[in-house]
Amino acid sequence: MEHTRYRGRFAPSPTGPLHFGSLVTAVATWLEARAADGDWLVRIEDLDPLREPPEATNQILHSLDAHGLHSDEPIRFQSRRHPAYQEAIDHLLKNGKAYRCSCSRKQLQAHGGRHPAQCRTRASLPDEASHAIRFALSDDNSHWQDLLLGPQHQTVRAELDDPVLQRKEGFYAYQLAVAVDDFDQGISHVVRGSDLLDMTAQQQQIFQALGAPAPQWLHIPVILNDQGQKLSKQNHAPALDDTKPATNLVHALVALGQQPPAKLAQASVSDVLAWARAHWQRAAIPLTSRQARGITPSTQSHSDH
Ligand code: GLU
Repeated sequence: MEHTRYRGRFAPSPTGPLHFGSLVTAVATWLEARAADGDWLVRIEDLDPLREPPEATNQILHSLDAHGLHSDEPIRFQSRRHPAYQEAIDHLLKNGKAYRCSCSRKQLQAHGGRHPAQCRTRASLPDEASHAIRFALSDDNSHWQDLLLGPQHQTVRAELDDPVLQRKEGFYAYQLAVAVDDFDQGISHVVRGSDLLDMTAQQQQIFQALGAPAPQWLHIPVILNDQGQKLSKQNHAPALDDTKPATNLVHALVALGQQPPAKLAQASVSDVLAWARAHWQRAAIPLTSRQARGITPSTQSHSDH
């Protein structure tokens, strides 16, 4: 099963407002989709209300709007997709690709990641026992081609790396929902930060177990702050200033290795995006965060072209 049309997406978890790092990802996903004449979708991955301030989703959508990044289709909210995730879990349980696990993190650590209760092979658990659902990975030396980073290789270890699909508290987990929705929405290409690179091999197995074609992957370097940490809410990354969208977009393009003329920051949002589309060069994206750091706007001096 192959995808016939390019369909990309930007899929933020609304744990806070958009920051510069998330804008860089959004712009990369948008430009890749536009370069392929494909569709660009926005999906809000609101799976965990305990980590999501209620105002974050609207802040994110407002920011995207202010930066001229409009979803080609109605925005999808994962909080409204629970029946589909449950159906996927039932399917995986039935096919022996998922199992119930009642181990605590502490127990797993004490057993070097192995499940002391033999969760994978145990026939059943009493219904009332609190348990997570985990995906049953196969041992695998996974190889795939990243569209930016080139050939990738990752070893997947059965049992030890089995990702949680549904937490004990009942929340559906990112690893499940992302694959279910990428499949359901016909996403052909995933562009995202390289902090998620380690999950790719596991996700490929989840796609396969769902009978879904895996998308193509492109991992961009994560943006670091001055202390060398990933920009994130945990590290108090400032929210984007939505009153300066053209400047933000120009900075995002620079972080992606593009060479926008300095005066573009004074142009309109649509002019910046039009320039970006016309000049987009995937091959110019830096491969590592370190390289991306070397080209901060302040050290850049490009002539107009
Ligand atoms: N929701 C994830 C995040 O914000 C991204 C999911 C993905 O691109 O696969 O980190």
